[in-house]
Amino acid sequence: MSKKLLLFAAACLILSSCGQKQDQTVVPTENNTSLEATAPETVTVTEPPVEAGTEEQEPPSQAAEEETITPLYHINKAYRVVPNEEGTETKVVLLTFDDGPKEQEMIDGLIDTLDKHKAKAIFFVNGYRVETHPELLKLIHDRGQIIGNHSWDHIDLKKESESEARKQVEEVQAIVEETIGERPRFFRPPFGSGNDQLHQIVEDNDMIYMTWSNGSLDWDSKNKNKPEAVIQNVLEQLHAGSNILMHELPWTVEALDSLLTQLEEKGYSFVDPRTISEVPEQSE
Ligand SMILES: [Zn+2]
Repeated sequence: MSKKLLLFAAACLILSSCGQKQDQTVVPTENNTSLEATAPETVTVTEPPVEAGTEEQEPPSQAAEEETITPLYHINKAYRVVPNEEGTETKVVLLTFDDGPKEQEMIDGLIDTLDKHKAKAIFFVNGYRVETHPELLKLIHDRGQIIGNHSWDHIDLKKESESEARKQVEEVQAIVEETIGERPRFFRPPFGSGNDQLHQIVEDNDMIYMTWSNGSLDWDSKNKNKPEAVIQNVLEQLHAGSNILMHELPWTVEALDSLLTQLEEKGYSFVDPRTISEVPEQSE
């Protein structure tokens, strides 16, 4: 790339960071000489000074938005979502989808609906599926949803030796980090089946352990192809802090929009999993 082109690129960078309304304050041609004196790679883009009386405000950047996420909830011993402090909204539910990633169509279907309701969910994934479809894990992550660890093989970890159970947990941490650049913060054992040994392994990996407190029974063959039954099951068990277990299944994809609408109508909102922390010291 020629030096002129590089300078042009640098100027464009500055321009775009200033925002369109500030076009008139943009560096005029005579300043190009001073720009030229600076090697393009060392060009620092500084914020324009805020003029008194300007109503214009910088839109918050994505990074700034992420920084504002504060811990609000934790998972209690009954695996319900409860506030860390009094005064925080208790009428909330946590949405979770287990056993993926399976198919792009189902994942997009679920996330389209989550987006429509401005909701975030945890997708508890199995390592063997991630290994086959790393692009689907990336898809879930890139669309702003949260990845959880559901073990490598979806076996009953209570029946396994310490070393095998550890492998089942830690190899998922590794493949997820390799694929999306971060390790899961949440763990859910297959079949909700665990013991002290498994709790310890999960703690060693700095994850929050949970099963669920509201099972949609979407996995049960009697509810196959019956979105209405899935909705009914969740509503019948509904309580403040419901930790709702669902799966990546076609009838759950079909049920989700109506389910979320009905939950909203009952006054529930959806917990952002990123606001879930470890159990605070004073509580429980
Ligand atoms: Zn499962």
